[in-house]
Amino acid sequence: MRFSTNIASLVPSATLAISARAKRMQAAGESVIDLSAGEPSFPTPEVAIEACVEFARSGHSGYPPTPGIPELRSAVAAYVSSTTAMGEVEPDNVLVSAGVKQALFNASFCLFGPGDEVLVPAPYWPSYLAIVSLTGATPVVVPTDFGSGFRLQIGELERLRSPATRGLFLNSPGNPSGEVYDRDLLEQLAGWAAENDIWIISDEIYRRLCYAGDSATSICDVPHAVERVLHLDGISKAFSMPGWRIGYTVGPSEVIGKMSALQSQTTSGAVAAAQHAALAVLASPERDDIVLGFRDILRRRRDVAVEALNGIPGLEVRVPSGAIYLYVRLTSTSDSMAVAERLLVEGGVASIPGEAFGTPGFLRLNYAVSDEELKEGLARVRGFFS
Ligand code: PMP
Ligand code: GLU
Repeated sequence: MRFSTNIASLVPSATLAISARAKRMQAAGESVIDLSAGEPSFPTPEVAIEACVEFARSGHSGYPPTPGIPELRSAVAAYVSSTTAMGEVEPDNVLVSAGVKQALFNASFCLFGPGDEVLVPAPYWPSYLAIVSLTGATPVVVPTDFGSGFRLQIGELERLRSPATRGLFLNSPGNPSGEVYDRDLLEQLAGWAAENDIWIISDEIYRRLCYAGDSATSICDVPHAVERVLHLDGISKAFSMPGWRIGYTVGPSEVIGKMSALQSQTTSGAVAAAQHAALAVLASPERDDIVLGFRDILRRRRDVAVEALNGIPGLEVRVPSGAIYLYVRLTSTSDSMAVAERLLVEGGVASIPGEAFGTPGFLRLNYAVSDEELKEGLARVRGFFS
């Protein structure tokens, strides 16, 4: 069949594809522990369920406003104002979308296009490359190295910058690395981007899942950085609600307006009932207790996972400071695709190979699964490599 050139280089999301395969294997009766897709396994917070049911029972059936229901835009504005140093955020600075994934697409489609280049530090979340390519712009991968904790170097950005460079993706805490950028680096990045008129697309979906403080430092905490920054976050990770598909963008109202126009021509916005559920958690007095409760359990699981994998010949593990993944280095091969395949088929554990993140020679393991699954999964990984 002939498809349009728009999708000439489109590949399905590797993370979602591998997790779908693991689920199919489980459904066929195979014993597979799925440590592939990053999906926290906690149940939806009660306060969100109640708000959703109440909204459904109210009988409202109409379209919500395209940029999001006003109460949720205000709640996001208040949340971001009170948890970053961005200053007073107004509802006009907020666009609600169907997850951070749609927010990233909207932002990229509005800011980048053919002839533009967008810098994407590796290891990267795979959808960044696909999304930038769909806009017609060219993603330019910025290498980092494991030894330095995948720390982004301004020298590398400068080396890869060209007159066509229009954007830089940041993701701290990072997927898959789990690394958290410190304030000093964020200040340097903000200064460099402002000097060169480059947009920062700051994907902060793991901001609250940080093990070195109650929240990772945000680029929005850097004074004067916000003019050319879009801050993206949502409820998928911090509130363990990935299936509710709510994410948001905070940025200059002019950009938010364009992104909303795009959304009005594509999805008409996020599902109303899910927006009411998101509003309930974000406006709840229990909000921070919910997040920090999840975070504390995840920190324990991270420690269990690091301890279980440390010392296994052929594996090198760094302790991540945030997010929900161990990004384990394979010391004797760079063919992580083959290792992940064998680990799945022979070892009964689904993982994501480093090739998906632009850094072959690694395996990503999601530890945000139940204690029982984690224990069994780690035992299988240990058995497989031993
Ligand atoms: N960014 C990163 C770094 C992610 O890991 C994910 C995966 N959930 C997303 C964005 C997409 O999140 P959402 O569920 O809000 O679309
Ligand atoms: N973000 C998660 C991951 O990296 C979920 C899958 C996806 O949206 O790509 O595994």
